[in-house]
Amino acid sequence: MNLDIISIGDELLIGQTLNTNAHWIAAELDKIGFTIRQQTSISDNKEHIIETLSNVLEKSDVVLITGGLGPTNDDLTMPVLNDYFGGKLITDAAVYNDIEKLILGRGFEMNENNKRQALIPDNCKVVRNAHGTAPGLWFEQGDKVVVAMPGVPFEMKAMITDTVIPWLKEKYVLPEIVHQMVLTQGLPESKLAELIADWENQLPATIKLAYLPSPGRVKLRLSSKGKSRAEVQHKIDEQVAKLMQIIPQNIYSTDNSNLEEVIGKMLVQQKATLATAESCTGGYLAHLITSISGSSDYFKGSVISYANEIKINELGVKKSDLENFGAVSQQVVEQMALGVLKKFTVDYAVATSGIAGPTGGTAEKPVGTVWIAVANKNGVVSKQFTFGKLRSVNIERSAVAALGMLREVLQG
Ligand code: AMP
Ligand code: MG
Repeated sequence: MNLDIISIGDELLIGQTLNTNAHWIAAELDKIGFTIRQQTSISDNKEHIIETLSNVLEKSDVVLITGGLGPTNDDLTMPVLNDYFGGKLITDAAVYNDIEKLILGRGFEMNENNKRQALIPDNCKVVRNAHGTAPGLWFEQGDKVVVAMPGVPFEMKAMITDTVIPWLKEKYVLPEIVHQMVLTQGLPESKLAELIADWENQLPATIKLAYLPSPGRVKLRLSSKGKSRAEVQHKIDEQVAKLMQIIPQNIYSTDNSNLEEVIGKMLVQQKATLATAESCTGGYLAHLITSISGSSDYFKGSVISYANEIKINELGVKKSDLENFGAVSQQVVEQMALGVLKKFTVDYAVATSGIAGPTGGTAEKPVGTVWIAVANKNGVVSKQFTFGKLRSVNIERSAVAALGMLREVLQG
């Protein structure tokens, strides 16, 4: 079953309003088994609405429209749909009552605009609006359905949840859909694709694979549909198990939990504690770790050792090493990790030191050079990374790489 979303409103086209309606509708209708074929944003313009609707109705079974259902002259959706489906506008008593109750409840009198909103095409079903005056319209043409709803997000959401989804489920037999996420870290998208190419090529045609990269991580999404959820999930699980054999080090989650959650669980399991010593990440690492509820059970604190004197005085980094090797060096980052391990008497410590940019790079150590160290009672491991030129991305990637290294150490 194909579904199209049409978002109507000049404010969407000029970038004044973010089209959150299409985003929300797509997620909700995907969940119940529709294939979202296309999302279209168009202006409040009669010809544009008609042209778009007739185009998408050729290809989709269901079309959900938001916007342009208000009582004012710039809202055209109602008269345009009435023309399109060849109906007659008549006052709907139930809608009139709904509107009157809402308007009187707000301390206003019914005016002509309000009365006009109760004029409904006689060839559609009304989708009641629990939170506003503009009713939704449900048209059927053969096996196809077109629903128009107001643009106000909370009004539209209640209509979809309370009425549109139940009615669609009654009308259509929908498949079960499973989206399985496999979260990876430490491999750029192109390298990951190369490593898993054989696995990707042997995937059954019924399983669709998507790569979703973000700094330092790539999410893989395996999607499939079928009659029984258990069967579809089983087929996907088989493929995930094969993938686990190929890149065991890089997969950190198959239940969509992020790195900081995964690390939190491991620390809880080991009854271990953690601290950070942060230079280039400036506390961002600690922020990620403490964004997890329950992190007080394992996270003790951080030294944001941005200045050399703090590295020396708070973490015991040797002044001579700072002078000889520089703050962004293996020697310094390892001493930072060991320093905070001792200072805070924790089981694990992570340290970052790098050149986030855009200034501060040299020929020898360009912007994006980052050293990361992880220490525990057995000693310290460290690694150099070469990221890019964008400051915020470098900070993000440093934090992700640090969490990734910590995860490896926690795994032993
Ligand atoms: P309308 O139903 O066209 O009168 O829209 C009413 C209000 O809903 C607009 O002022 C926008 O703020 C909001 N709105 C309309 N369309 C969208 C959309 N696609 N996503 C988010 N908000 C929207
Ligand atoms: Mg509008």
